Amino acid sequence: MDSGLYVVATPIGNFGDMSQRAVEVLRSADLIAAEDTRHSQRLLQHYSIDTPCMAYHDHSDERALARISRCLADGGSVALVSDAGTPLISDPGYRLVRQVQELGHLVRPVPGACAAVAALSASGLPTDRFLFEGFLPARAGSRANRLAELAGETVTLIFYEAPHRVRECLEDLVTAFGGEREAVLAREITKTFETIRRGSLLELAQFVAADSNQQKGEIVLLVAGRAKSGQQLSPAMATLLQRLAEELPAKRAAALVAEHTGLRKKQLYDYLLALKQQ
Ligand code: SAM
Repeated sequence: MDSGLYVVATPIGNFGDMSQRAVEVLRSADLIAAEDTRHSQRLLQHYSIDTPCMAYHDHSDERALARISRCLADGGSVALVSDAGTPLISDPGYRLVRQVQELGHLVRPVPGACAAVAALSASGLPTDRFLFEGFLPARAGSRANRLAELAGETVTLIFYEAPHRVRECLEDLVTAFGGEREAVLAREITKTFETIRRGSLLELAQFVAADSNQQKGEIVLLVAGRAKSGQQLSPAMATLLQRLAEELPAKRAAALVAEHTGLRKKQLYDYLLALKQQ
């Protein structure tokens, strides 16, 4: 094993998702730097790994870094793990990777589970382009501001969310992106109560509000990007738009539908104009 820092992904719920290489690296390393040593013990015991462990997180003091650097300077290898999934993805490690690189040591990834990618792969939402947002700000005002910035994104958006905030988060998503926008709730991935549910943001908000079990466990929320201009109007949306345009000025009807669907106001307005000219 080459001397260096190995960034090792661990399972996000199902121990069977541990790669053989991850086990070998953890077994052969001289030291494991773990976000929480007690948490990682279960996995290490499961695979009969008895490599010495130390705690490492982004607020660890200089002594932790000194211990890791010493091990690397002596030609040893250190494996970095977080509680679950890929380290550095909404988890500690960024500071360590930078510092180890700056000291001139090798940094190698040992890829594996990541909740964002697992959720995306089974979501049924477009996967060609996506934006990983991680956790939204906890404060309502900052969260609303960030969502307003994201409302125009045309790529699939991926959020991590704590169970006690999922209801509120879905309500905020409805407000920011409109209830019609397609989204996915991916909960407890790879675990007993795994739930992958696709629907409109409004449907998901109602589904979660009506069932307290859906407000438990670990959750990824994915939201389809805003429809690009020129995208087809669904028949239901076209009917709604026409109906609104019977009651309201075309501009207002287009603005209302745009607000609730993520479709472009100009596209909707042009659609109504084209209808008038027929
Ligand atoms: N590093 C991890 C990764 O690679 O996905 C993420 C760590 S972050 C601190 C924890 C968040 O990831 C959870 O709050 C949840 O949003 C998401 N998560 C982790 N495991 C999950 C699972 N089994 N099902 C759904 N979401 C999960």
